Amino acid sequence: MPKVQETTLEIDLRALTHNFNYLKSKLQPQTKFLAVVKAFAYGSDSIAVAKQLEALNVDYFAVAYAKEGVLLRDAGITVPILVLHPQPINFKTIIDWCLEPSIYSAKILDEFIQTAEASKQNKYPVHIKFNTGLNRLGFRPGSVDTIISKLESTSAIVVKSIFSHLAASEDLNESTFTSQQISDFKSIAKNFEAKVGYRPWLHLCNTSGVINYPEAHLDMVRCGIGLYGFGNAVKEDKVLIPIARLKSIISQIHKIEPQETVGYNRAYQANDYEMTATIPVGHADGITRQYGRGKGFVIINGKRAPIIGNVCMDMIMVNVTNIECREGDEVIIFDGTHRASDLAESANTISYEVITAVSQRVKRSFI
Ligand code: PLP
Repeated sequence: MPKVQETTLEIDLRALTHNFNYLKSKLQPQTKFLAVVKAFAYGSDSIAVAKQLEALNVDYFAVAYAKEGVLLRDAGITVPILVLHPQPINFKTIIDWCLEPSIYSAKILDEFIQTAEASKQNKYPVHIKFNTGLNRLGFRPGSVDTIISKLESTSAIVVKSIFSHLAASEDLNESTFTSQQISDFKSIAKNFEAKVGYRPWLHLCNTSGVINYPEAHLDMVRCGIGLYGFGNAVKEDKVLIPIARLKSIISQIHKIEPQETVGYNRAYQANDYEMTATIPVGHADGITRQYGRGKGFVIINGKRAPIIGNVCMDMIMVNVTNIECREGDEVIIFDGTHRASDLAESANTISYEVITAVSQRVKRSFI
């Protein structure tokens, strides 16, 4: 790889293919694969990722909001797109752009039916979400009769799938809770199917669910983080390859004197003569202030350089006293070895937050 010359997020589409194939290898051949590409495909690039996955015959995409789906359609993506968290104000847009809403409450169901009827739709596909314990979005299991009676009042929509979301599929200490969610979802599905008179697709598993609960793969799985190279089950982490590598360069090196301070609020004070390097990446690029004050580190010429002082909006300063380096040298903020999950640990967070935080002003390049 040529060295970067400015802050760059390198996106490795071959790694994406590897992760997709690996996750698919966990499934029965008939199980469909939905790729979650919300939040710019977890901070990478949703168009490039979706195009690659479409070429690999992915069955479905999911985004959180309607406008994320519009972005994909506008780029020529034709695979069905589920909108996980739509709002009524976007229902017309959803229909205009052939997106498929998650219907998570009676209010949302009524309002989507109204919009679908107003635009003279017939059997417009929707996906009904049930709450089986995450307590975030979804109908309670007891709402099946209400849903069915609303469905019977219209021909404008049709339920293509029913789904739920696991609360702790990554945590095997919570397996009793997860097994209960799985069995509750199966009961809801049975009840729904008996009353609606046909069998919609069923889906429940995210990445950790795919890895830990094969009995819950059902008709389709919804994978996000695994595609991007992370899984919460430690043994799987080695197989998945992070697709995004955040790199930058050294802008300036300073020799500082004992007792001198570095950065805002004078949060770092040198004990001795020390060397610092300033890197053009800051909290506006997704480098949270939590990595500052010595918690996080970057890699320069194979060595760890701790982030000292407070993270600025466009810069961080790192201690390079024991590292041979020059202005212009490459800096690795995270990659396949110094992983986003390691950086996450330093700030007591999770890889999801580190990778989705990389802001849109950071240049993307593709491998
Ligand atoms: N399904 C739903 C409803 C989600 O909200 C998400 C992500 O937040 C996923 C699936 C994908 O989860 P993961 O990234 O853990 O695979």
